[in-house]
Amino acid sequence: MSHKPLYDITPFTVLDYPDHLAAIFWFSKCNMRCVYCYNKDIVLREGNMDEGEALAFLKSRRGLLEAVVLSGGEATLYKDLALFCKRIKELKFKIKLDTNGLNPEMVQLLVENSLVDYIALDYKAPKEKYLEITKDKHFDNFSRTLNFLIRKEFAFEVRTTVHSDLLRAEEINRIMNDLVKRGYGGTYYLQPFVFTENTIGKIQVAKAPLDTARISNALKVVWR
Ligand code: SF4
Repeated sequence: MSHKPLYDITPFTVLDYPDHLAAIFWFSKCNMRCVYCYNKDIVLREGNMDEGEALAFLKSRRGLLEAVVLSGGEATLYKDLALFCKRIKELKFKIKLDTNGLNPEMVQLLVENSLVDYIALDYKAPKEKYLEITKDKHFDNFSRTLNFLIRKEFAFEVRTTVHSDLLRAEEINRIMNDLVKRGYGGTYYLQPFVFTENTIGKIQVAKAPLDTARISNALKVVWR
């Protein structure tokens, strides 16, 4: 594992951690290859920033920022993530983790040791479409992360990126039904795919629009 786990820092955001002024730490590398991913450089390239640089940045922002968002790429691939979170916490910053859920052990470690305050979990696709969209076959790992967070009643949200040629209203409803069945009662966030050149799967603008009228109200749905 790289000693430079971070690809970049966004010094300031009000959008990524609800109700918090935060910085974003972008971790390099990912264990998925989502066809619509526009963070190709982050996913494929080595990091170029080490923990020390990131912590020095945070020290310079004490009193100005409240929180850090650990995003990527996939932050849970970093084997020293728990220790890194501990160091961030020692500086009195709150931590939000963005994750694809493929590393339930790391999520459990972080949650059980109070090393994260909030999690945004990507529910990429229903099981039968998971491989097609993410190029990963470990839906069961994602599933374990989801069940763990629900059982723990941890503060988290579930979100899905929607490319309407890949995910139709019925599939979004299937995700929602699954969430309800598992006991998730929070808001379900949907984010529309925004076309950019050079996505991992060279994906184009959707041919057919999403039939939003067919999206169920099994959960409170919010578009971002
Ligand atoms: S969109 Fe997919 S491939 Fe890209 S960083 Fe997120 S989980 Fe990884």
